[in-house]
Amino acid sequence: MKILLKKGRILDPSSGLDFVGDLLIEDGNIRGVERDIELSEKNITMLDCQGKLIFPGLVDMHVHLREPGEEWKEDIESGTRAALYGGVLRVACMPNTKPVNDSPEVTSYILKRAKEKAWVTVYPISAITKGQEGKELSEFGRLKKAGAIAVSDDGKWVANSALMKRALLYAKNFDLPVISHCEDPFLSFKGQINEGKISAKLGLKGIPSSAETIAVIRDLLLAKETETSVHLAHLSVKENIPFLKWAKEEGIPFTAETCPHYFTLTEKEVEGYNTLAKVNPPLRTEEDIYAIKNALKEGYIEVIASDHAPHSPLEKEVEFELASFGMLGLQFLLPLSFNLVREGVLSELKLLEYMITNPSKILRVTPPSFKEGALAEVIVFDPEEEWKVTEEIIQSKSKNTPLLGKTLKGKVKMIILQKTIYRADT
Ligand SMILES: [Zn+2]
Ligand SMILES: [Zn+2]
Repeated sequence: MKILLKKGRILDPSSGLDFVGDLLIEDGNIRGVERDIELSEKNITMLDCQGKLIFPGLVDMHVHLREPGEEWKEDIESGTRAALYGGVLRVACMPNTKPVNDSPEVTSYILKRAKEKAWVTVYPISAITKGQEGKELSEFGRLKKAGAIAVSDDGKWVANSALMKRALLYAKNFDLPVISHCEDPFLSFKGQINEGKISAKLGLKGIPSSAETIAVIRDLLLAKETETSVHLAHLSVKENIPFLKWAKEEGIPFTAETCPHYFTLTEKEVEGYNTLAKVNPPLRTEEDIYAIKNALKEGYIEVIASDHAPHSPLEKEVEFELASFGMLGLQFLLPLSFNLVREGVLSELKLLEYMITNPSKILRVTPPSFKEGALAEVIVFDPEEEWKVTEEIIQSKSKNTPLLGKTLKGKVKMIILQKTIYRADT
Protein backbone atom coordinates (compact mmCIF):
# COMPACT_ATOMS: atom_id res chain seq x y z
CA MET A 1 0.00 0.00 0.00
CA LYS A 2 1.56 3.24 -1.18
CA ILE A 3 0.68 6.87 -0.47
CA LEU A 4 2.40 9.56 -2.50
CA LEU A 5 2.24 13.18 -1.41
CA LYS A 6 3.02 15.42 -4.37
CA LYS A 7 4.60 18.84 -4.61
CA GLY A 8 4.33 20.05 -1.02
CA ARG A 9 6.95 22.02 0.85
CA ILE A 10 8.68 19.30 2.83
CA LEU A 11 10.03 20.35 6.23
CA ASP A 12 11.83 17.92 8.53
CA PRO A 13 13.68 19.43 11.50
CA SER A 14 15.49 16.11 12.22
CA SER A 15 17.39 16.30 8.97
CA GLY A 16 17.06 20.00 8.17
CA LEU A 17 15.11 19.28 4.98
CA ASP A 18 13.23 22.23 3.48
CA PHE A 19 12.34 21.92 -0.20
CA VAL A 20 9.35 21.50 -2.49
CA GLY A 21 8.98 17.86 -3.43
CA ASP A 22 7.29 14.50 -2.91
CA LEU A 23 7.02 12.12 0.01
CA LEU A 24 6.38 8.42 -0.41
CA ILE A 25 4.84 6.25 2.30
CA GLU A 26 4.73 2.48 1.93
CA ASP A 27 2.90 0.18 4.33
CA GLY A 28 2.85 2.80 7.02
CA ASN A 29 6.53 3.74 6.80
CA ILE A 30 8.42 6.59 5.18
CA ARG A 31 9.97 5.28 1.97
CA GLY A 32 11.55 8.41 0.55
CA VAL A 33 11.56 12.17 0.07
CA GLU A 34 12.69 13.59 -3.23
CA ARG A 35 12.11 16.52 -5.58
CA ASP A 36 10.11 14.32 -7.90
CA ILE A 37 8.95 10.76 -7.34
CA GLU A 38 7.34 9.19 -10.41
CA LEU A 39 5.61 5.87 -9.96
CA SER A 40 4.02 3.96 -12.78
CA GLU A 41 2.22 1.37 -10.68
CA LYS A 42 -1.50 1.43 -10.01
CA ASN A 43 -2.98 1.29 -6.52
CA ILE A 44 -1.18 4.36 -5.33
CA THR A 45 -3.05 6.96 -3.34
CA MET A 46 -1.89 10.28 -4.72
CA LEU A 47 -2.35 13.39 -2.62
CA ASP A 48 -1.85 16.78 -4.21
CA CYS A 49 -0.08 19.02 -1.69
CA GLN A 50 0.62 22.10 -3.79
CA GLY A 51 0.79 25.20 -1.63
CA LYS A 52 0.83 23.09 1.52
CA LEU A 53 3.51 22.27 4.05
CA ILE A 54 4.33 18.64 4.84
CA PHE A 55 6.05 17.95 8.15
CA PRO A 56 6.27 15.22 10.81
CA GLY A 57 3.65 15.07 13.59
CA LEU A 58 4.10 17.41 16.53
CA VAL A 59 5.12 16.21 19.98
CA ASP A 60 3.22 18.12 22.69
CA MET A 61 4.96 17.50 25.99
CA HIS A 62 2.38 19.27 28.14
CA VAL A 63 -1.28 18.24 28.04
CA HIS A 64 -3.99 17.34 30.54
CA LEU A 65 -6.16 14.43 29.39
CA ARG A 66 -8.21 14.30 32.65
CA GLU A 67 -8.41 10.49 32.68
CA PRO A 68 -8.67 8.89 35.17
CA GLY A 69 -11.12 10.76 37.32
CA GLU A 70 -12.49 13.78 35.46
CA GLU A 71 -13.84 12.21 32.30
CA TRP A 72 -16.67 14.73 32.07
CA LYS A 73 -14.04 17.28 31.05
CA GLU A 74 -11.98 15.12 28.69
CA ASP A 75 -10.77 11.57 28.37
CA ILE A 76 -7.98 9.82 26.56
CA GLU A 77 -10.15 9.25 23.49
CA SER A 78 -11.44 12.82 23.11
CA GLY A 79 -8.17 14.47 24.13
CA THR A 80 -6.14 12.49 21.64
CA ARG A 81 -8.73 13.14 18.93
CA ALA A 82 -8.22 16.88 19.52
CA ALA A 83 -4.49 16.22 19.31
CA LEU A 84 -4.86 14.39 15.99
CA TYR A 85 -6.90 17.24 14.48
CA GLY A 86 -4.29 19.67 15.75
CA GLY A 87 -1.45 17.81 14.02
CA VAL A 88 -0.10 16.55 17.36
CA LEU A 89 0.71 12.86 17.02
CA ARG A 90 2.33 12.33 20.42
CA VAL A 91 1.26 13.80 23.73
CA ALA A 92 2.77 13.64 27.20
CA CYS A 93 0.01 13.85 29.82
CA MET A 94 0.38 15.48 33.21
CA PRO A 95 -0.26 13.50 36.40
CA ASN A 96 -2.83 15.74 38.14
CA THR A 97 -5.59 13.22 37.50
CA LYS A 98 -7.86 11.68 40.12
CA PRO A 99 -6.21 9.69 41.56
CA VAL A 100 -2.91 11.44 40.92
CA ASN A 101 -0.59 9.46 38.67
CA ASP A 102 1.96 8.78 41.39
CA SER A 103 1.95 4.97 41.20
CA PRO A 104 2.81 2.28 38.66
CA GLU A 105 -0.86 1.23 38.77
CA VAL A 106 -2.13 4.59 37.50
CA THR A 107 0.68 4.87 34.94
CA SER A 108 -0.16 1.39 33.60
CA TYR A 109 -3.85 2.19 33.60
CA ILE A 110 -3.28 5.27 31.42
CA LEU A 111 -1.18 3.24 29.00
CA LYS A 112 -3.80 0.50 28.89
CA ARG A 113 -6.59 2.99 28.15
CA ALA A 114 -4.40 4.66 25.54
CA LYS A 115 -3.83 1.34 23.83
CA GLU A 116 -7.58 0.73 23.74
CA LYS A 117 -8.75 4.08 22.44
CA ALA A 118 -6.11 6.74 21.85
CA TRP A 119 -5.82 8.28 18.38
CA VAL A 120 -2.18 9.23 18.92
CA THR A 121 0.74 8.11 21.08
CA VAL A 122 0.35 8.86 24.80
CA TYR A 123 3.30 9.23 27.17
CA PRO A 124 2.30 9.35 30.85
CA ILE A 125 4.14 11.78 33.12
CA SER A 126 4.12 10.66 36.76
CA ALA A 127 4.14 12.81 39.87
CA ILE A 128 7.34 13.92 41.59
CA THR A 129 5.72 13.63 45.02
CA LYS A 130 3.04 11.31 46.34
CA GLY A 131 -0.39 12.83 45.77
CA GLN A 132 1.44 15.92 44.42
CA GLU A 133 1.51 16.99 48.04
CA GLY A 134 5.12 18.10 48.00
CA LYS A 135 6.03 15.96 51.00
CA GLU A 136 7.36 12.59 49.95
CA LEU A 137 8.95 11.52 46.67
CA SER A 138 7.14 8.93 44.58
CA GLU A 139 9.02 5.82 43.50
CA PHE A 140 10.72 6.92 40.29
CA GLY A 141 12.24 3.52 39.44
CA ARG A 142 8.95 1.68 39.60
CA LEU A 143 7.18 4.50 37.75
CA LYS A 144 9.70 4.43 34.95
CA LYS A 145 9.37 0.68 34.69
CA ALA A 146 5.60 1.07 34.37
CA GLY A 147 6.07 3.51 31.49
CA ALA A 148 6.45 6.99 32.99
CA ILE A 149 8.30 9.19 30.51
CA ALA A 150 9.04 12.02 32.97
CA VAL A 151 8.08 13.30 36.41
CA SER A 152 6.28 16.53 37.30
CA ASP A 153 3.98 17.93 39.97
CA ASP A 154 2.41 20.18 37.32
CA GLY A 155 -0.28 22.37 38.81
CA LYS A 156 1.99 22.77 41.81
CA TRP A 157 5.59 23.70 42.40
CA VAL A 158 7.67 21.48 44.69
CA ALA A 159 8.09 24.34 47.17
CA ASN A 160 10.39 22.44 49.53
CA SER A 161 13.81 23.11 47.99
CA ALA A 162 15.54 20.25 49.80
CA LEU A 163 12.94 17.82 48.49
CA MET A 164 13.27 19.20 44.95
CA LYS A 165 17.04 18.81 45.15
CA ARG A 166 16.59 15.18 46.16
CA ALA A 167 14.05 14.71 43.35
CA LEU A 168 16.57 15.94 40.78
CA LEU A 169 19.29 13.60 42.06
CA TYR A 170 16.88 10.68 42.29
CA ALA A 171 15.56 11.35 38.75
CA LYS A 172 19.11 11.49 37.44
CA ASN A 173 19.64 7.91 38.63
CA PHE A 174 16.79 6.75 36.45
CA ASP A 175 17.42 9.17 33.57
CA LEU A 176 13.93 10.61 34.05
CA PRO A 177 13.30 14.19 32.91
CA VAL A 178 11.97 16.52 35.63
CA ILE A 179 9.39 19.14 34.65
CA SER A 180 8.75 22.05 36.99
CA HIS A 181 5.58 24.15 37.24
CA CYS A 182 7.27 27.34 38.37
CA GLU A 183 5.03 29.11 40.87
CA ASP A 184 5.79 30.20 44.41
CA PRO A 185 2.51 29.24 46.10
CA PHE A 186 2.87 31.82 48.85
CA LEU A 187 3.19 34.68 46.39
CA SER A 188 0.37 33.42 44.18
CA PHE A 189 -1.92 32.46 47.08
CA LYS A 190 -5.57 33.07 46.13
CA GLY A 191 -4.38 34.91 43.02
CA GLN A 192 -6.75 34.98 40.06
CA ILE A 193 -5.10 36.90 37.23
CA ASN A 194 -1.91 38.81 36.48
CA GLU A 195 -1.09 41.34 39.18
CA GLY A 196 -1.32 44.85 37.77
CA LYS A 197 -3.71 47.57 36.72
CA ILE A 198 -6.35 45.17 35.46
CA SER A 199 -6.40 43.08 38.65
CA ALA A 200 -6.76 46.32 40.62
CA LYS A 201 -9.55 47.55 38.36
CA LEU A 202 -11.45 44.25 38.51
CA GLY A 203 -10.87 43.87 42.23
CA LEU A 204 -9.30 40.44 41.77
CA LYS A 205 -6.24 39.26 43.68
CA GLY A 206 -3.22 39.28 41.41
CA ILE A 207 -0.48 36.75 40.74
CA PRO A 208 2.80 38.70 40.58
CA SER A 209 5.50 37.89 38.07
CA SER A 210 7.83 37.26 41.02
CA ALA A 211 5.80 34.12 41.86
CA GLU A 212 7.13 32.64 38.63
CA THR A 213 10.61 34.13 38.49
CA ILE A 214 11.56 33.20 42.05
CA ALA A 215 10.62 29.60 41.23
CA VAL A 216 12.61 29.72 38.00
CA ILE A 217 15.73 31.01 39.76
CA ARG A 218 15.54 28.37 42.48
CA ASP A 219 15.09 25.58 39.96
CA LEU A 220 18.05 26.82 37.92
CA LEU A 221 20.24 26.94 41.02
CA LEU A 222 19.26 23.39 41.94
CA ALA A 223 19.90 22.20 38.40
CA LYS A 224 23.36 23.74 38.63
CA GLU A 225 24.13 22.22 42.00
CA THR A 226 22.88 18.74 41.09
CA GLU A 227 24.15 18.90 37.51
CA THR A 228 20.74 17.62 36.49
CA SER A 229 18.59 19.20 33.84
CA VAL A 230 15.27 20.72 34.79
CA HIS A 231 12.53 21.54 32.30
CA LEU A 232 10.71 24.79 33.13
CA ALA A 233 7.08 24.55 32.01
CA HIS A 234 4.89 27.30 30.53
CA LEU A 235 7.01 30.41 31.14
CA SER A 236 5.03 33.63 30.90
CA VAL A 237 6.91 36.66 32.25
CA LYS A 238 9.66 38.92 30.98
CA GLU A 239 11.47 38.93 34.34
CA ASN A 240 12.60 35.32 33.71
CA ILE A 241 14.59 36.12 30.62
CA PRO A 242 17.81 37.61 32.08
CA PHE A 243 18.05 34.58 34.37
CA LEU A 244 17.58 32.14 31.49
CA LYS A 245 20.30 34.00 29.63
CA TRP A 246 22.57 33.83 32.66
CA ALA A 247 21.89 30.09 33.05
CA LYS A 248 22.77 29.44 29.39
CA GLU A 249 26.02 31.36 29.82
CA GLU A 250 26.84 29.43 32.99
CA GLY A 251 26.18 26.13 31.19
CA ILE A 252 23.44 25.16 33.64
CA PRO A 253 21.48 22.20 32.29
CA PHE A 254 17.90 23.29 31.68
CA THR A 255 15.25 23.62 29.01
CA ALA A 256 12.33 26.03 28.96
CA GLU A 257 8.86 25.93 27.48
CA THR A 258 6.13 28.41 26.69
CA CYS A 259 2.63 28.06 25.28
CA PRO A 260 0.87 29.90 22.44
CA HIS A 261 -1.39 31.85 24.80
CA TYR A 262 1.67 33.45 26.42
CA PHE A 263 2.81 34.93 23.13
CA THR A 264 -0.66 35.65 21.75
CA LEU A 265 -3.12 36.80 24.41
CA THR A 266 -2.85 39.46 27.11
CA GLU A 267 -4.52 39.94 30.48
CA LYS A 268 -7.08 42.15 28.71
CA GLU A 269 -8.89 38.91 27.78
CA VAL A 270 -10.16 38.60 31.37
CA GLU A 271 -11.90 41.99 31.30
CA GLY A 272 -15.60 41.43 31.81
CA TYR A 273 -14.61 38.59 34.16
CA ASN A 274 -14.19 36.14 31.31
CA THR A 275 -13.45 32.85 33.06
CA LEU A 276 -12.43 31.26 29.73
CA ALA A 277 -9.28 33.39 29.91
CA LYS A 278 -8.46 32.30 33.48
CA VAL A 279 -5.32 30.23 33.26
CA ASN A 280 -2.27 29.47 35.36
CA PRO A 281 0.19 31.09 34.96
CA PRO A 282 -2.12 33.97 34.07
CA LEU A 283 -2.16 35.86 30.78
CA ARG A 284 0.27 38.74 31.11
CA THR A 285 1.02 41.99 29.24
CA GLU A 286 2.21 43.13 25.80
CA GLU A 287 5.72 43.59 27.21
CA ASP A 288 5.74 39.99 28.41
CA ILE A 289 4.61 38.76 24.98
CA TYR A 290 7.42 40.75 23.39
CA ALA A 291 9.97 39.28 25.82
CA ILE A 292 8.73 35.70 25.38
CA LYS A 293 8.99 36.03 21.59
CA ASN A 294 12.48 37.39 21.96
CA ALA A 295 13.44 34.50 24.24
CA LEU A 296 12.14 32.08 21.60
CA LYS A 297 14.17 33.87 18.96
CA GLU A 298 17.32 33.77 21.08
CA GLY A 299 16.74 30.12 21.99
CA TYR A 300 16.45 30.67 25.75
CA ILE A 301 13.02 29.10 25.42
CA GLU A 302 13.15 26.16 23.02
CA VAL A 303 9.90 24.25 23.44
CA ILE A 304 6.35 25.23 22.56
CA ALA A 305 3.64 23.10 24.19
CA SER A 306 -0.10 23.60 24.51
CA ASP A 307 -0.81 23.07 28.24
CA HIS A 308 -4.16 21.81 26.95
CA ALA A 309 -6.40 22.05 30.04
CA PRO A 310 -10.05 21.14 29.45
CA HIS A 311 -12.76 22.26 31.87
CA SER A 312 -16.51 21.88 31.53
CA PRO A 313 -19.14 24.60 32.13
CA LEU A 314 -19.37 23.24 35.70
CA GLU A 315 -15.91 24.64 36.39
CA LYS A 316 -16.11 27.69 34.10
CA GLU A 317 -19.66 29.08 34.19
CA VAL A 318 -19.28 30.19 37.78
CA GLU A 319 -18.04 33.24 39.67
CA PHE A 320 -14.55 34.24 38.58
CA GLU A 321 -12.94 33.34 41.90
CA LEU A 322 -14.48 29.88 41.82
CA ALA A 323 -13.61 29.08 38.19
CA SER A 324 -10.84 26.58 37.44
CA PHE A 325 -7.62 27.62 35.74
CA GLY A 326 -6.89 26.41 32.22
CA MET A 327 -7.83 26.57 28.55
CA LEU A 328 -7.86 24.21 25.58
CA GLY A 329 -4.76 24.20 23.42
CA LEU A 330 -4.27 21.19 21.18
CA GLN A 331 -6.17 22.41 18.11
CA PHE A 332 -4.79 25.95 18.32
CA LEU A 333 -1.13 25.09 18.92
CA LEU A 334 -0.11 25.09 15.28
CA PRO A 335 -2.08 28.07 13.89
CA LEU A 336 -1.11 30.32 16.82
CA SER A 337 2.53 29.22 16.78
CA PHE A 338 2.71 29.79 13.06
CA ASN A 339 2.22 33.50 13.73
CA LEU A 340 5.84 33.40 14.95
CA VAL A 341 6.89 32.50 11.41
CA ARG A 342 4.68 35.19 9.89
CA GLU A 343 6.19 37.77 12.24
CA GLY A 344 9.74 36.67 11.47
CA VAL A 345 10.46 35.46 15.04
CA LEU A 346 11.29 31.89 13.92
CA SER A 347 11.79 30.13 10.61
CA GLU A 348 9.45 27.25 9.78
CA LEU A 349 12.18 24.70 10.55
CA LYS A 350 13.07 26.35 13.86
CA LEU A 351 9.43 26.40 14.90
CA LEU A 352 9.09 22.70 14.10
CA GLU A 353 12.28 22.02 16.03
CA TYR A 354 10.57 23.61 19.07
CA MET A 355 7.49 21.42 18.59
CA ILE A 356 9.01 18.12 17.38
CA THR A 357 12.72 17.51 17.94
CA ASN A 358 13.32 19.50 21.14
CA PRO A 359 10.46 17.96 23.14
CA SER A 360 11.47 14.52 21.81
CA LYS A 361 15.04 15.08 22.96
CA ILE A 362 13.89 16.12 26.44
CA LEU A 363 11.61 13.08 26.70
CA ARG A 364 14.41 10.83 25.35
CA VAL A 365 12.38 9.51 22.42
CA THR A 366 13.23 9.33 18.73
CA PRO A 367 11.40 12.23 17.10
CA PRO A 368 8.90 11.74 14.30
CA SER A 369 10.84 12.32 11.09
CA PHE A 370 11.01 11.66 7.36
CA LYS A 371 14.01 9.36 7.63
CA GLU A 372 13.64 6.27 5.51
CA GLY A 373 11.95 3.49 7.47
CA ALA A 374 10.47 5.82 10.12
CA LEU A 375 6.82 5.30 11.01
CA ALA A 376 4.61 7.54 8.93
CA GLU A 377 3.57 10.42 11.20
CA VAL A 378 2.82 13.08 8.62
CA ILE A 379 0.94 16.38 8.71
CA VAL A 380 -0.27 18.37 5.71
CA PHE A 381 -0.79 21.99 6.74
CA ASP A 382 -2.15 24.97 4.84
CA PRO A 383 -0.47 28.03 6.34
CA GLU A 384 -2.83 30.44 4.56
CA GLU A 385 -6.28 29.02 5.22
CA GLU A 386 -8.39 30.92 7.71
CA TRP A 387 -10.97 29.25 9.91
CA LYS A 388 -13.30 30.26 12.67
CA VAL A 389 -13.13 28.63 16.10
CA THR A 390 -16.56 27.14 16.84
CA GLU A 391 -17.74 24.61 19.39
CA GLU A 392 -18.41 22.17 16.52
CA ILE A 393 -14.80 22.25 15.34
CA ILE A 394 -13.44 21.57 18.82
CA GLN A 395 -12.87 17.84 19.25
CA SER A 396 -12.40 18.00 23.02
CA LYS A 397 -15.33 17.25 25.31
CA SER A 398 -14.88 20.69 26.83
CA LYS A 399 -15.08 23.92 24.84
CA ASN A 400 -13.21 26.26 27.18
CA THR A 401 -11.20 28.67 25.10
CA PRO A 402 -11.22 32.46 24.85
CA LEU A 403 -10.64 31.95 21.11
CA LEU A 404 -14.29 30.94 20.49
CA GLY A 405 -15.65 33.03 17.62
CA LYS A 406 -12.19 34.22 16.58
CA THR A 407 -10.59 33.53 13.21
CA LEU A 408 -7.26 31.72 13.08
CA LYS A 409 -4.89 31.41 10.16
CA GLY A 410 -3.31 28.07 9.27
CA LYS A 411 -5.15 24.78 9.12
CA VAL A 412 -4.22 21.13 9.40
CA LYS A 413 -5.66 19.56 6.25
CA MET A 414 -4.57 15.95 6.44
CA ILE A 415 -2.91 13.62 8.88
CA ILE A 416 -1.28 10.40 7.76
CA LEU A 417 -0.62 8.14 10.68
CA GLN A 418 0.92 4.87 9.61
CA LYS A 419 -1.53 3.44 7.05
CA THR A 420 -4.47 5.75 7.75
CA ILE A 421 -5.25 9.04 6.06
CA TYR A 422 -7.41 11.43 8.10
CA ARG A 423 -8.90 14.47 6.46
CA ALA A 424 -9.29 17.18 9.06
CA ASP A 425 -10.88 19.37 6.50
CA THR A 426 -14.57 18.87 7.12
ZN1 LIG B 1 1.50 24.00 35.21
ZN1 LIG C 1 -0.28 22.07 32.89
